[in-house]
Amino acid sequence: MSHHGPSVTHEFNSFLQIDAPMLELARRYQDVLTRDAATFARIFYDYLFQFPVTSELLNTYQQEGGDLQALTNQQVAHLFSLVANADAPGYRAKQLYIGKVHYQRSISPSWIMGAYRLYHQYIHDIIQTSIDIADHDRATLADSLNKLLFRDMGMMLEGYWMTAAAVIDQEKTRIDELQQQISSLLKNLPQVIWSIDVINNRPIYISPTVRKISPIDMQLPIPCLAWTVQQDRPAVEAAWNKALAGSSTVVESRVHAPDDQIRWFKRTFHPFTDSTGRVMRIDGIMEEITDTIEARNRLQVLAETDALTALANRSQWYDRINNALTCVQSMRGKHVIVMLLDLNNFKHINDTLGHPVGDAVLKQVAHRLKHALREDDTVARLGGDEFAVLLPCEDEAVRPAQAVARKIQACFERPYQFDEHELFLGVSIGIASYPDHGKNTDVLVRRADAAMYKAKRDHLDYQFFEKSLEPTAPKSPWISRIKKGLSNQEFELHFQPKILLNDGRAAGVEALIRWNHPQHGMLMPDSFIPVAEKMRLINDVTDWVLMQALQHSRQWREQGIATPVAINISASSLQNRNFIRNVQAALEAADAMPDHIEIEITENTLMADIDQSAKVLKELSRIGVAIAIDDFGAGYSSLAYLKKLPIDHLKIDRSFVQDMDRNDNDATIVRTIIDLGHNLGIKSIAEGVERPAALAMLREMGCDAAQGYHISRPVPAVGINGWFMQYPAQRAAS
Ligand code: C2E
Ligand code: MG
Ligand code: MG
Repeated sequence: MSHHGPSVTHEFNSFLQIDAPMLELARRYQDVLTRDAATFARIFYDYLFQFPVTSELLNTYQQEGGDLQALTNQQVAHLFSLVANADAPGYRAKQLYIGKVHYQRSISPSWIMGAYRLYHQYIHDIIQTSIDIADHDRATLADSLNKLLFRDMGMMLEGYWMTAAAVIDQEKTRIDELQQQISSLLKNLPQVIWSIDVINNRPIYISPTVRKISPIDMQLPIPCLAWTVQQDRPAVEAAWNKALAGSSTVVESRVHAPDDQIRWFKRTFHPFTDSTGRVMRIDGIMEEITDTIEARNRLQVLAETDALTALANRSQWYDRINNALTCVQSMRGKHVIVMLLDLNNFKHINDTLGHPVGDAVLKQVAHRLKHALREDDTVARLGGDEFAVLLPCEDEAVRPAQAVARKIQACFERPYQFDEHELFLGVSIGIASYPDHGKNTDVLVRRADAAMYKAKRDHLDYQFFEKSLEPTAPKSPWISRIKKGLSNQEFELHFQPKILLNDGRAAGVEALIRWNHPQHGMLMPDSFIPVAEKMRLINDVTDWVLMQALQHSRQWREQGIATPVAINISASSLQNRNFIRNVQAALEAADAMPDHIEIEITENTLMADIDQSAKVLKELSRIGVAIAIDDFGAGYSSLAYLKKLPIDHLKIDRSFVQDMDRNDNDATIVRTIIDLGHNLGIKSIAEGVERPAALAMLREMGCDAAQGYHISRPVPAVGINGWFMQYPAQRAAS
């Protein structure tokens, strides 16, 4: 071995009083003392094999390829150097090394001492009994060898201990480095992270970023509570208490930031329990969410206001009526007044002067109405030239309603201005009030609507609802059953196929709703869809159609028919905030891809609120749903928006198609629409193809697809299979 470490230290020798004559004496009897070392080594290992722990260690040593004989030889050499070589260079280094190896092999100090006791016994037996030792030397020799044994063991334990200390030192350095990394990470995180000992209300850790939120000390136990806006504190405290009771919580609140601004923060509290379930500490994170909250508020405003006039939109107006009704129900003798306003002559302005003028006029109307009414009243634009008013809480119904109606009429006495034009407009007002004309929102709105129609028809300034105006009285009993019809499975979908004109293959099917009414038999959509729209039940209908259509499409796919299903969407479904989410949910429920459905929207629907429609359509298109404009050509003829919207198909209104083979005008319109579509990169579909002649003309005109009685009538879902048998269908690949 080549350990040239330090020699035995002076201190060691002087403290143990080891001197030269002593070493000399030991060296003199070296032969006598080590003569039988091999026997000793054997005894030594036999002894170690008696103890389970040491015997296991030795066994493992052998299993790992260690040689017991080599160990025995080392033992002999050790005994030899202990007696004779005790001051040789490298002796101490060797002892330190042996100590290190023992530490690394997890041999405990007690076993080391046990081994030394064996040396001690062996040597003293020789000193006492050997005839080769002079009697007068025995006591001194025994003393010398005791000291040498102590020193040998001391140095070995020193090596043992130094190694342990070095390992601990290394660990400590590693931990320090790790801690530095973590704290610099936490310092750079925008979030504040903490851990609070809730038994003693002491912080265990709080990341330094907390200074950015609250410049002075934390008020414990809840971090930053002192800086939280007063009104929001109860919510934060409630969340903390819930965490103390063992549940994780999240709470949003406003905090006064050091720069004097108020910012929104989200705190998350995670309780940690001990084995008995007691909450010991709460870890948490606090992060700024001002941007998110602002975006959410902006969305809220968008969802509740009319983009053109900034008035409340239909949905907010309904919400406010609902709130007003809830509010007055607990008070006696209060009235809620609902008014519907419809402009007279507005369509004429739009048609003759164009949409920009129409829009400008609507803005002015909104402005005048807003200023004519009180702050607490709601003025809304429901769409087109339809406005509405809500007086949420009045002591009586008739007089305030009349007064407001006259104020509204006054808004139309002066002409509206646009460039050099002076435009005179009129307004028809229908009024219904709670509790006299209805107890809930839908009834009140429906009755105000009926009154408004009467005012319009009879050229009255305003009209209160009265019994004789009950809209389409015989219809109402089954109207109110739409919801029930949905839950009773009285609705069903029929499907009408479309074909591609270039090769005659199937291009998809359109879902058309039917109501199998228990009393009135099979009802067509035109008789109940407008009612469902008015009653705000159309979203329920749309959701049902979406789900149902996709479930059928799934069954067809399972039978090998992969064909897109087109679904008709009403205006108010486009206004529904959840619409996109519902589409996605229906797709997921049917395991379908976005290109398994198409959305059909009528031109008029689209124009009712072009901004909102555009938003929804863009989102639909982004997720991969194709969009068709239905009944194209029958509505407004402004085409400018077509370019801006993600439209895939134009469905040419059937009024032009039905007789195109007999009417040149119709044929010209159809050809124009097809060309227009192609110029914009939009495919055209002709609906209402009733005769082969029309089909031939469409093919010649380059129309992309066709639908109509000539190809197939709408059929129940089961009939679609048969149809696909006749037509070369698009077969699913998988
Ligand atoms: P649409 O979307 O334009 O649907 C085409 C209508 O034309 C269907 O009437 C269909 O039966 C009819 N039709 C098809 N081929 C021909 C033909 O060759 N000649 C003639 N004369 N008519 C043909 P339906 O089923 O009565 O639907 C009427 C309208 O009701 C639909 O017009 C659509 O706007 C609406 N609708 C149908 N289902 C739904 C629905 O689930 N939701 C909504 N919101 N509206 C729906
Ligand atoms: Mg349609
Ligand atoms: Mg149509």
